[in-house]
Amino acid sequence: MSTENIQTASAQLLDGTLVANQIKQQVRRDIEEMVLEHDVRPCLAAIRVGDDPASAVYVRNKIRASEEVGIRSEHHALPQSTSAVELLDVIHSLNSRRDVDGILVQLPLPSEIAEGVIVEAVDPSKDVDGFHPVNVGYLGLGRPVFVPCTPAGIIELLEYHRIEMRGTNACVVGRSQIVGRPMAQLLLQRDATVTICHSKTRDLQAVTREADLLVVAIGHAGLIGRNHIKPGAIVVDVGMNRLTDPGEIRAMFGRDAEKRLEIVAKRGYTLVGDVNPVAADEMAGKRTPVPGGVGPLTVAMLMKNTVTAARRRRGI
Ligand code: NAP
Repeated sequence: MSTENIQTASAQLLDGTLVANQIKQQVRRDIEEMVLEHDVRPCLAAIRVGDDPASAVYVRNKIRASEEVGIRSEHHALPQSTSAVELLDVIHSLNSRRDVDGILVQLPLPSEIAEGVIVEAVDPSKDVDGFHPVNVGYLGLGRPVFVPCTPAGIIELLEYHRIEMRGTNACVVGRSQIVGRPMAQLLLQRDATVTICHSKTRDLQAVTREADLLVVAIGHAGLIGRNHIKPGAIVVDVGMNRLTDPGEIRAMFGRDAEKRLEIVAKRGYTLVGDVNPVAADEMAGKRTPVPGGVGPLTVAMLMKNTVTAARRRRGI
């Protein structure tokens, strides 16, 4: 690519909000049908422990989305002092309730509570986050039941935009249980040739630069730059990082920084991804924005998983 092209090119944006709204509309229709034909309204119970402000926002968004699509929801907000035993009691009681279809425990939990024990306590048939080892196992076997919402939403986005996965070189940066690993499984199951990178990967940019499809889930604002991206690649940015420092914002957004600085002045921070958007605009063929890319899809897929849980549990 010539320097002139690099300066003027702008990647096509893959709009996650649009696709998320379509998924939610379909969920709403499915629920109307379930209510009319079977007198069943799916119910999602969300549990949050402590007062982490980001977790509070995530749970509020999930409850709001549930209301929008017609899912009945419950919000169990437990104090920071909650013990593992008390949390397990809440989970066991929700497991045993016939009217509750989906249970989500918002992570992270306070450090004194072992997340693994809590995740494993959720009834796998109500595990709408897809984190229980039974559901992780089904995904690994290529027989997915409940797939973690973020990678499942990314697949919906790619399919909506008719982005070819079969035979492509796909690279996933990040190997977390909730994004990177399930993402790699889903791409592999769609016949991509998948490479997974992580913090110990040597010469990250040499690996990512080979990727036709690059999915980034690191948690480090703007880490992926010009030299990491193959010209014309599809770049999916999962990162959600809060930036507050005007200097960092100017460095990341260049000429577009002013809009972001206005958001910081209003809200105290601006949400940015793991991919430098200016670099991605120059190098990528298509890319997801932050915000408005992967985030809305995650919530939409939670709604879809809750309907799946209700159908499977109630045999409808
Ligand atoms: P995580 O559990 O912290 O995992 C981060 C992964 O990135 C790890 O595998 C880590 O490698 C790898 N990594 C860290 N630094 C790296 C580096 N310099 N080079 C290469 N790899 C590196 O994070 P996560 O839960 O997957 O989340 C990742 C990001 O996505 C966060 O910003 C999070 O907020 C965001 N997120 C967004 C959504 C959404 O709905 N949009 C949903 C979930 C997460 P090691 O394994 O070697 O430590």
